[in-house]
Amino acid sequence: MSNQSVAPLSSLDTLSTELRPALSSGGPQRFCSVSASVMENTRCFANRFSDYKGALLPGQGGEAAVPAVVATVDKILKKVPTDVSDCDGGLYDGPAGVAYMLYHVSECPLFSEHREVYLKTAKQIIDVSVRYVDAEPDKNMRAAFLLGGAGIYAVAALIYKSLGLADFVKPLTKFRNLWEVCAPINFLECGSDELFVGRAGYLCAALVLKQKLGIEILSKDQIKSICQAIIESGKQYARRKRKPFPLMYSYYGTEYLGAAHGLSSVLQMLLSYQDMLSGAEKDLVWQSVDFLMNQEQNCNWPAELGAIIERENELVHWCHGAPGVAYLFAKAYLINKKPQYLDTCIRSGELVWQKGLLKKGPGICHGVAGSAYVFLLLYRLTGNSKYIYRAQRFAEFLFTEEFKAGSHSVTSVYSLFEGLSGTVCFLVDLLQPDQSEFPLFSVFV
Ligand SMILES: [Zn+2]
Repeated sequence: MSNQSVAPLSSLDTLSTELRPALSSGGPQRFCSVSASVMENTRCFANRFSDYKGALLPGQGGEAAVPAVVATVDKILKKVPTDVSDCDGGLYDGPAGVAYMLYHVSECPLFSEHREVYLKTAKQIIDVSVRYVDAEPDKNMRAAFLLGGAGIYAVAALIYKSLGLADFVKPLTKFRNLWEVCAPINFLECGSDELFVGRAGYLCAALVLKQKLGIEILSKDQIKSICQAIIESGKQYARRKRKPFPLMYSYYGTEYLGAAHGLSSVLQMLLSYQDMLSGAEKDLVWQSVDFLMNQEQNCNWPAELGAIIERENELVHWCHGAPGVAYLFAKAYLINKKPQYLDTCIRSGELVWQKGLLKKGPGICHGVAGSAYVFLLLYRLTGNSKYIYRAQRFAEFLFTEEFKAGSHSVTSVYSLFEGLSGTVCFLVDLLQPDQSEFPLFSVFV
């Protein structure tokens, strides 16, 4: 793997221009006031769909939707590279993400007749990625979740287990052994704590494994030591940079707030393991959650701390902005049922309904499927069918000429995070909304 692969992904290439100097002086506001006049921004299509009026869309549920998913899977399998030299990108935009998608589809009963073929193909793909990452000389890259080995080993274990192979213990053992790599407080120079390559990612993978395999993945002491390293790292950074709040982090020198590389997913993982924290540690985490809640600007969060959102040009992505930050507040709400956390998620959903038909492709990182996952999250939190309807409308939009003609082309069209594999996961989850979850990012566990 090249060093390049640890550089920030997910549209950060254009971050410096995306985070333009503050032109407005509105400051943080707590109300959603995105008016129709600013809908036509350059990042999203106008949402012309009428909102929910009490009925879901016919023809989108159940078996009627299966052929569209199968056709998309076929398209992906024609494009995914199979050579060991093409395995860079991990689960994010490498072939391993396609293997995860096939695993996910094969778990859904509606696709039972494809299950065997999908799982066998998934095994072929992930075996090549495992060989690739076994040969990776940089142990830090082996410990990376979305961009490196930890994610690949985790998905290999899931696929092997689904196939009934006792061998699933092999990749699982490789995964478990990586905890030592990411335990030292500054194990990565670029920032040791975020989701893609850092400790939050490793904890996230362990959470998904525990959820899907139903066994303990790490010992309590191992989890505690990683959580403590995250907390200590955040305390040290906040102190050194004289931040007025308890925990903060940076990645390649930028203080990100969003799910991809930022504070929100780090805190989400700490909440996911809060039983392992001391009372004082929990206090620091909850203070930080509330601090982040107060950084909201018109239902959204800037990509980096202290930036002012320019509404005509704001990022409404899973990677940067409300569609990713919402998962932290969902987790907070599931733990302590405080209504302000649910309200924050609901406001995020309103923004996504208005500005979530993104032009950056069909994917889950900064594309339409990533937006639509917020509706599935809200459905699971509230039980309100309005959110299934909204997710159905976004699914419908993915198949329109307007979307095909007006969205940017994607480099790895097969990939899990930027391409169609994430879209397939979403379409499958729309068929079973009671179990839906953003891929590899569990809050209902
Ligand atoms: Zn992104």
